[in-house]
Formats: sequence, C-alpha cells, structure tokens
Amino acid sequence: MRLLVVEDDEQLASRLSDRLCDAGFAVDVARNRDEGAAWPDMDKIAAVILDLGLPDGSGMDLLRHWRQNKVDRPVLILTARGSWQDKVAGLNAGADDFVVKPVRFEELLARLHALLRRETGSRETWIEEAGIRLDPITREVECDGVPLSLSKQEYRLLNLLIRRPGQVLSQGDIIDHLYAIGSQRDFNAIEVLVSRLRRKIGAERIRTVRGLGYRFGR
Ligand code: CA
Repeated sequence: MRLLVVEDDEQLASRLSDRLCDAGFAVDVARNRDEGAAWPDMDKIAAVILDLGLPDGSGMDLLRHWRQNKVDRPVLILTARGSWQDKVAGLNAGADDFVVKPVRFEELLARLHALLRRETGSRETWIEEAGIRLDPITREVECDGVPLSLSKQEYRLLNLLIRRPGQVLSQGDIIDHLYAIGSQRDFNAIEVLVSRLRRKIGAERIRTVRGLGYRFGR
C-alpha cells in the first residue's frame, strides 16, 4: 500500500517514511502544499498523512482543495496545534483523524491502520483470505494456521494481494503499490518476488492470468 506524506520538515519526513516503510508501506513524500495539490496519481494512494504547517500555505487548505476535487483518500492530519478548534476545523474540512506532534510512531501507525480498516469496512485488526491470515499491526502471517516468515518485500506483496482477492493485478499495478514514485519499474523483480511468495504460501494461491497479471485466492 502506498502512502503520501505531506511534510516540509525533511528530518521528520524521512524518519516517518523510514518507519512506515518498515511497517510495510511504500511512501511518497510531498514537501509543500503545491506539490501535494498537483500530486499525479492520488487514486493509487491508500492514505495521506498531512502536516498542517506548510511553507506555501496551510495543509487545511490543501485538504479542502482535494475534497473539492473529489479526492476521497483518507487523510490523517499531523499537527503541532492541538486545540479542539483546530480539530473541528480539520474534521469539517474532510480530515479523517488527527495526531498531535510530537507523536509516538506507534500511535500514528495504530491510527493509520484504524483509518484503513474503516475504508474496507472491517473491524478486525487482521485480514483473512484463502487460508492466509495477516495482521498488519504485528505483521504476523499465518498460512493454514502455520506461522510464516516473510521478507519485507514478500510481506508487502502479500499485504497488497490479500486486500484484493479475486482481482487481477498487473505487474504495473504491483509496482505502483509497492514502490515509491520514481523508483525503477522492474517487471523481472516482480516476477521473482511473486515466485518467492508462491513458494511460501503455495503456488495455487497466486494464479497467473495470462497476459494480464496475477490473481490472489483459491
Ligand atoms: Ca511543517
């Protein structure tokens, strides 16, 4: 899953994206309001973490801009200002949740997952599909009840597939979700990754749809 972090504080942005990557997300960073407003493919972003104090305008204004332009991705506001008035204004502008800086990463991650769960209409913290159980918080994975150890990339791929059972995902779709913008589009690497994951979860769970891509499920 890909996230967009809009944050002008470079240190904070890079610390945040490192930890979000460790948690299994692909992360893009926009450094200011205009970059955020012109972000090319918001439809591929699972959620946004938005700082309010940006050098060229307010994050709140950016949020309004997105909502007016039918960008409906869930938005978690990151703010140094924690007053209730700010929260009310943010929620009215279309934010989904708030985290006040300085923030513990664990809280941010928990809120982010809660937001993503709301998107899929699920109350469970784990996802279960086709005999695979994946917990996005602890990153534990079980296959037919047996714990699996996956590499970071294998986990990311499974995390993507398990949320789209029965759907065909092309190699391009997988690259778009797994890697940040601007990284190399290496279709071979995806093929290798898919076969590694197949060896761990069983080849029958990831079917090749000739000429189109891959489909997860039994
Ligand atoms: Ca800022």
